[in-house]
Amino acid sequence: MSSYEPLTIDSAVTLVKKLGLFAESDAVSANEIGDGNLNYVFHIKGTEKSAIVKQALPYAKVVGESWPLTLERADIENRALRLQGTFAPDYTPKVYYSDKDLAITIMEDLSHLEIARTGLIGGEDYPLIAQHTGEFIARTLYGTSDFAMGPQEKKKLQHTFCNPELCDITEGLVFTDPFFDVETNDFEEGLRADVEKLWNDAELKLHAAQLKRQFLTAGDALLHGDLHTGSIFASSTETKVIDPEFAFYGPFGFDIAHFTANLFMNALSREESRRERLYEHIVTVWNVFTGEFTRLWNENNTEAFAKTEGYLTWLLADIFEQATGFMGLEMIRRTIGLAHVKDLDSIDDEKKRLDAKRHSLSIGAHFVKKRKAYTSADQLVAAVKEAVQ
Ligand code: ADP
Ligand code: MG
Repeated sequence: MSSYEPLTIDSAVTLVKKLGLFAESDAVSANEIGDGNLNYVFHIKGTEKSAIVKQALPYAKVVGESWPLTLERADIENRALRLQGTFAPDYTPKVYYSDKDLAITIMEDLSHLEIARTGLIGGEDYPLIAQHTGEFIARTLYGTSDFAMGPQEKKKLQHTFCNPELCDITEGLVFTDPFFDVETNDFEEGLRADVEKLWNDAELKLHAAQLKRQFLTAGDALLHGDLHTGSIFASSTETKVIDPEFAFYGPFGFDIAHFTANLFMNALSREESRRERLYEHIVTVWNVFTGEFTRLWNENNTEAFAKTEGYLTWLLADIFEQATGFMGLEMIRRTIGLAHVKDLDSIDDEKKRLDAKRHSLSIGAHFVKKRKAYTSADQLVAAVKEAVQ
């Protein structure tokens, strides 16, 4: 029998005191700071310490109505955070407590940092975000792969991160819906001609189908699964990756693709003179990911073919190609699909906003179709610069 019930501010405070995380006598203040669509996020502050209590709700409010959504995602998030914390402790919030029945995770309070998307929109550059995120992705992916774990241990772990319901959301909203005239899509009327062109682009659809199949079947490593700039807390010195409720075993290129797509969309939302820092981040995250993945490969590898000439080079090139495609898909769906990015939506001037969104769409479609033509992040940046001239 499940003992689930939604917490209130009072019951969240009672719980953290009962658990001994705060003294009974501590005068704590608490409030709910989540956006209320999927999960409760309670911020609890005592005289000397603070904590976050995140609780999954048994439904999601999407397209104006609720649909049921498994509470199991809280357990996935909790286990993903703990695992990521073993591979990338500097970049992961500490987990203090979790309860599967209550669908809660109690974790480190990161309120001294800012959500990177918000900061980037406000003009922050976060000099270390690409270095840290590249290390996070390389370490968490390599550490949960066949190469590091060996196929038996990896399969056992993979089995515990199935996450069908949240994968279904990604498969629909990222990989399918934007390519068809369905009601989950959401775009401004000014983009209708561009969107209809996209729906009629048979070549693009074939490539989207190929990339979707990779996502459905790959199983390389435990992905974060939703690594956009809204899932990253940052400052000029620190980076923490939160919210891995979409974690599952998927293709190596997926997380870096979403991070870089969101950096490109932020770049498109800025004045031209202020884009360079984002472009540098895109090159840096790829260099760091490649370097760190290579270091780990050489240091700890259970694969008999690990030293076979050309294997790692081929694998890294393959990851780059699929990531270029996934990046393009993320740019498309964030422009015309259900879940937009504030970076583009918040451009006040209508012409500038539509131009930025058209670029996001056309650049995204180009990367999906021509992903095999790209072999370095410098080339991706050069292509975007040329497209927006
Ligand atoms: P959801 O899965 O509902 O999107 P998130 O994990 O993204 O939830 O959290 C929603 C918001 O709650 C974040 O944008 C952030 O403002 C706040 N939040 C989440 N985790 C923390 C944390 N560890 N420390 C401080 N604030 C947090
Ligand atoms: Mg989330």
